[in-house]
Amino acid sequence: MQRIVVVGAGMAGGRAAAEVRARGFAGEVILLGAEPHRPYDRPPLSKAVLSGRIDDTTLPFDLDGVEVRLGRRATGLRPGTVETDAGPLDYDGLVLATGADPVTLPGDGPQRVLRSIDDARDLRGALRPGVRLVIVGAGWIGAEVATAAAAIGAEVTVVEAAASPLFAALGAQVGRCTIAWYARAGVTLRLATAVERVTPDGLVLAGGEELIADEVVVGVGVRPGTAWLAGSGLALDRGVVVDEHLAARWTHGADGADGDRPPVVAVGDCAAWWSRRYGRRLRVEHWDCAQQSPAVAVSTLLGGEAVYDPVPYFWSEQFGRMVQFAGLPSAEAAPVFRGDPGVVVPPDGGRPSGWSAGWFAPDGRLEALVTVGRPMDMVAGRRLMAADGIPDRERFADISVSMKELAAASR
Ligand SMILES: Cc1cc2nc3c(=O)[nH]c(=O)nc-3n(C[C@H](O)[C@H](O)[C@H](O)COP(=O)(O)OP(=O)(O)OC[C@H]3O[C@@H](n4cnc5c(N)ncnc54)[C@H](O)[C@@H]3O)c2cc1C
Repeated sequence: MQRIVVVGAGMAGGRAAAEVRARGFAGEVILLGAEPHRPYDRPPLSKAVLSGRIDDTTLPFDLDGVEVRLGRRATGLRPGTVETDAGPLDYDGLVLATGADPVTLPGDGPQRVLRSIDDARDLRGALRPGVRLVIVGAGWIGAEVATAAAAIGAEVTVVEAAASPLFAALGAQVGRCTIAWYARAGVTLRLATAVERVTPDGLVLAGGEELIADEVVVGVGVRPGTAWLAGSGLALDRGVVVDEHLAARWTHGADGADGDRPPVVAVGDCAAWWSRRYGRRLRVEHWDCAQQSPAVAVSTLLGGEAVYDPVPYFWSEQFGRMVQFAGLPSAEAAPVFRGDPGVVVPPDGGRPSGWSAGWFAPDGRLEALVTVGRPMDMVAGRRLMAADGIPDRERFADISVSMKELAAASR
């Protein structure tokens, strides 16, 4: 193998390129990124960058010996060659790390999204006391933007089509526990409210009501950044289809068997990998995946047999709270609470102890866990889930029993 090309210079692509070098690969490594920036971290964009605490999130990757080509976009792919806006680029091994692109709404009015550092800096410039900001979507990003904007003094309204915030991620029962956070921060939350279109004056809601806004931010989800791969013959299904080793496969339109073609792997937000643990394909837009998957993918590219099979993990900072989430809840399971989500200040006036909620599989395994201000619950809970542990459900509901103790006593 003479040349490895990495397409996408975000967390996953940057880490993959650094990993290739760290493993002593002696050939050429080229990292291609559409943005003009070296790999940078995105989670701070909706937190510290938006609130003005930091302005630069460049990642400290060791890219010594990696040829970094910025402002260069891949436009197409065939076996052995990436088409780019600067001409074809041949490869012997390829890492796809093109992340995800925000979904936008219909309408002819201006709408902002928050994906890049340039988006974050532009939005920060627009946030002033009194500015009328409407955020569409009370998911992770919407809640974080609302947090920063309310703290700056903007007049914030969040419009959400579902019946609760975080509905898609956590379901209605847990999502409802966050409704009070909005009111306490002075943010107007409009639930079960669908948006028809964005106009030059703000929004038109389903039913015709107009919502006037100076700024509209849309946080309604992302799509995998794979449009450029359409028609390439690489298997795609809501992301780049990869196996548990993160290896992609060709479906048609190429000559010869997969074995004759240079290997392709995918990492981070664009990868839809086969999970042995869950027995289905997963694609998550989580920093942890962008951080951990490159080591497995690079090992695969260089002939290794490593398997990627994590318990998905995500965190968010909302209205002064650290919210962490791990696992995959079954649709039908009702959450079991630890602690009271309604308690803001405990009766003794001390620090709030937070709360958690867990989802259990029919066989008693802890399937998913959300923690609010309880990082130690999350540390022990992640270990428990990774080990397929069966904790005592009644003791789980008793917040005076530590998760560490529960995990140690689990079956
Ligand atoms: C505002 C924000 C806040 C977040 N907060 C959290 C959080 O609190 N917790 C958490 O777990 N996760 C969070 N995430 C998610 C996390 O940041 C992502 O999962 C992670 O960035 C994914 O990394 P990636 O490298 O796969 O993709 P990306 O970071 O999207 O990087 C992909 C790169 O590829 C480039 N690219 C795309 N197409 C091409 C092409 N054709 N040619 C060349 N280059 C291309 C893109 O320009 C981009 O630079 C947040 C994301 C955002 C946007």
